Amino acid sequence: MQTPAPFEYDRATSIDQAIGLLEQYGPDTRLVAGGHSLLPMMKLRLAQPGRLVDINDLDDLSYIRQEEAQIAIGSLTRHSELLSSPLLAQHWSIFAEAERVIADPVVRNRGTIGGSLCQGDPAEDLSALVCALRAQLVIRSRGGSRTVEARDFYLGPYETVIGPAEMLTEVRIPIHEGAGSAYEKVERRAGDWAVVAVGCFVKLDADRVLDVGIGLAAVNARGFAAPEAEDRLRGQPATEEQLAAAASLAAQHCRPQADQRGPEDYKRYLVGELTRRALRRAIDRASRGGA
Ligand SMILES: Cc1cc2nc3c(=O)[nH]c(=O)nc-3n(C[C@H](O)[C@H](O)[C@H](O)COP(=O)(O)OP(=O)(O)OC[C@H]3O[C@@H](n4cnc5c(N)ncnc54)[C@H](O)[C@@H]3O)c2cc1C
Repeated sequence: MQTPAPFEYDRATSIDQAIGLLEQYGPDTRLVAGGHSLLPMMKLRLAQPGRLVDINDLDDLSYIRQEEAQIAIGSLTRHSELLSSPLLAQHWSIFAEAERVIADPVVRNRGTIGGSLCQGDPAEDLSALVCALRAQLVIRSRGGSRTVEARDFYLGPYETVIGPAEMLTEVRIPIHEGAGSAYEKVERRAGDWAVVAVGCFVKLDADRVLDVGIGLAAVNARGFAAPEAEDRLRGQPATEEQLAAAASLAAQHCRPQADQRGPEDYKRYLVGELTRRALRRAIDRASRGGA
């Protein structure tokens, strides 16, 4: 079945109006941003919302700017804008590295960071990225805004803490001066979803790891993260031996499932190897001044 079930359509003119429509029409109503996840699901009839509220005219949700020690990204910011942002490139190379391997230019020109995170797909690259960097997510409703840690945003596959009359409006990325970051992904062919992907940042104090964040995609890691590996590495010398020990914990504690992209042991092996590679490159960047 390649045709969506019938639905009503509204084009929102403000954030408040979009939230008002969600409230008025109830849980059968969905926001549509880039539409690159929602519309295919509607065509397959895996999703059958009775009403779509299109937020593509809400230009005040599209920005990347520095606010004190954070980079604030509006939820309607497109993948292509994340890929080419000089501000993100200055502080976090991981954004361009991840974006270069997400889908293709057609999808990247339209798909948004908000839609990517709210979709809650276990293989979503940006979910692993924001969880690696310990971003905060700003969620708005008629009553005001609340902020949640990215790692607490996901309840399970395709499930997030967003309520039926709430909207994700902003992603806040902390800036750690001098930190290095990296993204590693194995995909079956260019532009495909990850078999496994790992993103990380490392902050050094001389040759020791002062802080580290590790995000994992496509292996059902709680909060898309590897906290056991982070705890193992924090405070340790940034040596190959320590990286290997941390990577092995990341592989041990994630929960991959066999599917058409590979068996469980292969995915665990990839988590270990990609974690090591990502940490190595992030440390190299940190030792050269960061990004
Ligand atoms: C061919 C193809 C290949 C792809 N490959 C990859 C890949 O390799 N890696 C990867 O990570 N992704 C991949 N994607 C997904 C892509 O990144 C999508 O852009 C993304 O998943 C969804 O973003 P969107 O803006 O299109 O969201 P939409 O499809 O518009 O929305 C997705 C969901 O989020 C909700 N939503 C949207 N915005 C908000 C908001 N502000 N607040 C609350 N809820 C909201 C919608 O109601 C819907 O439930 C691929 C997609 C396609 C079509």
